[in-house]
Amino acid sequence: MKADIAIPRTKLDFLTYSTDEKLGVGDLVLVPLKNKLKYGIVFKINSKKNIKGIRPVTKLVEKNFIPINLLRLYRWIANYYLCPLGDVLNLALPSQILKKYELKEKPPAPRIHIKVPRPTYFQKNAIKRIIEALEQKKFKTFLLYGVTGSGKTEVYLRCAEEVIKKGGRVLVLVPEISMTPLLYQRFYERFRENVATIHSGLKHKDRRNIWYEIKNGKYKVVIGPRSTIFIPIPGLQIIFVDEEHDCAYKEHCRNPHYNARDLAVMRGMFENIPVVLGSATPQIESYYNAGIGKYQLLTLKQRINDRPLPSVEIIDLKNEAKKFISPKLKLKIEETIKRGEQIILFLNRRGFAPALICPYCGFVVKCPYCKIPLVYHRQDKAEPAHLSCHLCGYKSPLISICPKCAKRTLLYRGAGTQRIEDMLKNILSKMKFEPAEISKTILRLDRDSIRKPGQAKEIFKTFDAKKAQILLGTQLVTKGFDFPEVTLVGIVNADIILNLPDFRSGERTFQLLTQIAGRSGRGKKLGEVIIQTFRPEQYAILFSQLQDYPKFYTQEMKLRQALNFPPFSKLILIRFRGKDEQMLWKEANKLFNILKQIKGLKILGPNRSFYYKIKKDYRIFILLKLKKKFPLKKLNFLKSYRTRGWTLEIDIDPLEVF
Ligand SMILES: [Zn+2]
Ligand SMILES: [Zn+2]
Repeated sequence: MKADIAIPRTKLDFLTYSTDEKLGVGDLVLVPLKNKLKYGIVFKINSKKNIKGIRPVTKLVEKNFIPINLLRLYRWIANYYLCPLGDVLNLALPSQILKKYELKEKPPAPRIHIKVPRPTYFQKNAIKRIIEALEQKKFKTFLLYGVTGSGKTEVYLRCAEEVIKKGGRVLVLVPEISMTPLLYQRFYERFRENVATIHSGLKHKDRRNIWYEIKNGKYKVVIGPRSTIFIPIPGLQIIFVDEEHDCAYKEHCRNPHYNARDLAVMRGMFENIPVVLGSATPQIESYYNAGIGKYQLLTLKQRINDRPLPSVEIIDLKNEAKKFISPKLKLKIEETIKRGEQIILFLNRRGFAPALICPYCGFVVKCPYCKIPLVYHRQDKAEPAHLSCHLCGYKSPLISICPKCAKRTLLYRGAGTQRIEDMLKNILSKMKFEPAEISKTILRLDRDSIRKPGQAKEIFKTFDAKKAQILLGTQLVTKGFDFPEVTLVGIVNADIILNLPDFRSGERTFQLLTQIAGRSGRGKKLGEVIIQTFRPEQYAILFSQLQDYPKFYTQEMKLRQALNFPPFSKLILIRFRGKDEQMLWKEANKLFNILKQIKGLKILGPNRSFYYKIKKDYRIFILLKLKKKFPLKKLNFLKSYRTRGWTLEIDIDPLEVF
C-alpha cells in the first residue's frame, strides 16, 4: 500500500511512501527523508501515484494523531494561503510537540465562591441566540459587537457553561495571553482546573505536555493565542475569538500568513459548530459580513450597570504652545491626582525622542542599515543612554556632536514614552510630591520596561492594587483591562498610526482610540478622555470622540468602495526580501511579467516597501487587487516558486500593505 505523507518544514505538499502496515488518514509516522528520519502526517492512503524508488514508512508512531476535520482545515490553509502543506504543519506542529511527553497529575484547584453577575437584557438575548445554535449542532458565525465595558466575557462564560454541562469542550482565542490576564482569570474563577492555557511563553516541555493533555481531552476550556487554533480538541463544540479585530491574530513573520480569526470560522465550518467573534470595534470586513448575513450580528448596546460611556474631548495641537502635554491635559492630570483617582496615558512610541537632529545643518542621525532616524533612549534601569533603530534593533552609543558640521548642538525632536514620563515627574514635583513618591506614582509600560517575563503582569498588578496613579504606555495599555478607578485617559498623540501610508490607518486609529477611551470610567465614577491631535477634523478621530462605530463604519465603507479596497476586493501582498538590491528588482519584475499574463488581476507595483531596507534586507512589494470570486488556483504556481538568495512572502488578506 502507498500513502501520501506531509512532512513539517519541507517546501512540499506530500511525499509518497510504501507501507505494509494498515495506515489511516491522520496517523503520525516516521519516514526517511534524504538521510534523516522525519515525522509526518498521513493525508491520503491507497495513493495511486506511480513513482520509482519509493521508500517505505519506517514506523507508525501514533494512530489518529490528527482528526480528519482538522486535516481538512490544514489543507484549506495550504490552498487559501498559497503555501505547501509542509509550511502549514510547521506552524501547526512545532518541533517540540513531536517528542515524547510525560503525563503529570495536577491536584484539583480549591473551589472558591464567586458572585456570578446577572446578565443584562442584551447579554441574555445574545446568550439565547448562541445556545440555540449549540442545540442545533450547526455551524454558524456570530459577531458579538458590544461597546467597551458591555460584558462580552460574561456572554462567553455563560455559553461555555452550557457546553460543559453537555460534556463538550470550548476553545477561546485571545490576541496575546500575557496582555489578557483578566479574561483568563474570569474563566479560571468559573471553571478552575478545567481551564488550560497554552502559549509560546511556556517552557518547551510544559507546552508539549499541555498540548497532549488538551488532545487527550483533559481540559474543558482551552485558552490561547493564534496558534491554538491548530490543536486537536476532542468534542469541541464552540470557538470564541475575543477582540477579533486585533492584528495579533495575523501571522506576520512566516508563511502561511494566516489570520486565526478566519481559521476559527473555517474550523467551525469543518467541525460543524458555532463560532463567536467578539469586539467593540470589529474589523470592517467582519461588520460587513454581518451586514450581508454571512455572520449573525449580536449587539450589546449598553455598558454593565448602565454606566455611561466616558466623555471625550479633542485638543487641537496646532493651537497649543506646548505640543506634548497641553495645558488642558496637564490640568486634568493634576485634578485627577488630587482626587486620588487613576490615569492612563497612551503614546504609541517608546524611547525618549524619535529623532536626533542638528539645527544648523539639518543632519538627522540615522540607522546605517535601514536609513530611518535612530530613536534616543535615555538611561534606564536596564541600560545606559543610547540610540536605537526600532526596525532592526541596531544600537549605538549616544553622540552629542553633529557628525556633519561638528557643532555640539544636536536636538531631540518629538516625544516617546520616556520623555512624557519625565514631564509627568515634573508635574508631580511641582505638586509637591517627594522624589521617592514620584517614581512610585508613575508606571511605564512599553517593550523596554517589560523585557523580563512577568514584568508586565507585575505592572498591571501594582496599578490594579492602586499602588500607582498613572499608567503610561504604548498600545500594550489598550488591551482588555478593567481598572475601575481609572477616570482619566489621555491620548498624547493620536496621529502616529493615522499618518502611516495604509488604507487601514483610519480603521486602526479608530479602533485604538475607542479601545483606549473605553478604559475610562469602568467603575462607579464618571470617565473622561482627552485626545490630542494635529488632525481634529479627520473622521476616524471625530467618530472615536463620539464612540460611534456604526457611523465610522458607514464613512469608512464609502472610502473603501471608492478606492476598491476590501471588503469590495481581495488583496494579496507579494513581498520580495533579499540582500542583493539589483537582483531583487530583477526578480520582482520577472514575477510581475508572469502575473501580467493572468486575466482578472490588478497589479500594483513593484514598489519599494515603506521600510525599504531593514538591516541588510531590501524589501519590494507587489500588491494584487482581485475580485472576491477570483479563482486562487490560478496563482498556485506561487506555492513552489523558485527563490534562491532571496525570500518570497505571500500575504493573503494582508493587514498592512506597506
Ligand atoms: Zn536599522
Ligand atoms: Zn550639523
